[in-house]
Amino acid sequence: MKQGTKIKNYCNECHHETWHNVLFVQTKSESNYEMSWYQDYGILQCAGCDTICFRVDSSDSESYENDEFGNWIPIVTQENYPPSNEGFGIIENIYEIPNEIRDIYNETVKSISDGCYTLAGIGLRATVEAICLHENIPGGNLDTKINRLVTNGFISKDDADKLHAIRFIGNDAAHDIKAPIKNKVIIALKIIEHLISSKYGMQDEINKYLDLPINTYDEFKIFLNKKVLNTQNTITFTLQSLIGKDRRRINNNNFPSFIQQYESEIENGQITILEDVTTQIQASQTNNTSSTQSNNTALQTSNNTTSQKIYRRKNP
Ligand SMILES: [Zn+2]
Repeated sequence: MKQGTKIKNYCNECHHETWHNVLFVQTKSESNYEMSWYQDYGILQCAGCDTICFRVDSSDSESYENDEFGNWIPIVTQENYPPSNEGFGIIENIYEIPNEIRDIYNETVKSISDGCYTLAGIGLRATVEAICLHENIPGGNLDTKINRLVTNGFISKDDADKLHAIRFIGNDAAHDIKAPIKNKVIIALKIIEHLISSKYGMQDEINKYLDLPINTYDEFKIFLNKKVLNTQNTITFTLQSLIGKDRRRINNNNFPSFIQQYESEIENGQITILEDVTTQIQASQTNNTSSTQSNNTALQTSNNTTSQKIYRRKNP
């Protein structure tokens, strides 16, 4: 390792090997009549993301191996700080993960990077506990809670089997103080990462680009308020016409009660972004003998029997 040069090193932030600038190197070496050895202490900076890390390269005069041409090549041992998390510890948009899950997950990744596999085993089990806690899953022990994640529709039976296997790793680590082997904790961590990413990751993108079903009144209210706020205050509409094609996102059993509750919240003043203009519109239609609608009114009545009230967005 030489100061001022570039070398390849794994970057924990870029999650792959990148070029690193060698900012500083201090070499320590010794020798006697039998052998010699050295250690290069280097400060490196990723050329991709500017993250700085510390690396120690060490070798001695006894550590050589042959390459395919029979040349002697020194074996250099490489240690990084922070330790490399190559192949694990990768969750995109980790800021989207609920805090209580993210914290214990990060501690578990750190334990694995540091080679503390007993602690990592306990951390993996605790991460599953944190998911149950976040999902408000009742139950005295983790065995019951994992099964309830299935009955609550949060995970499949196959996923539950994997979480039970992680529970066993955690139990062995906590009760028998038995360190799992590295491959075991890494596979378990990848299962957790897959679960966390699929349940909590990409929520911003999903909400922005996909039409998910609207299951609760609270979701319905947020959805409809957004629609209202996107209309001009010169346009009138029924709630059904405003919802339009998004009607398919709401279950038939819920739709009438959601509309009813939304309208009653408009009436009692809880929702203030809309005004009921049904009477005004009907009066103007009665006075106007022409069958055409006025230009500033995109009135669309619906044959849905839930509601025929006509609204307009209120001036801010
Ligand atoms: Zn980087």
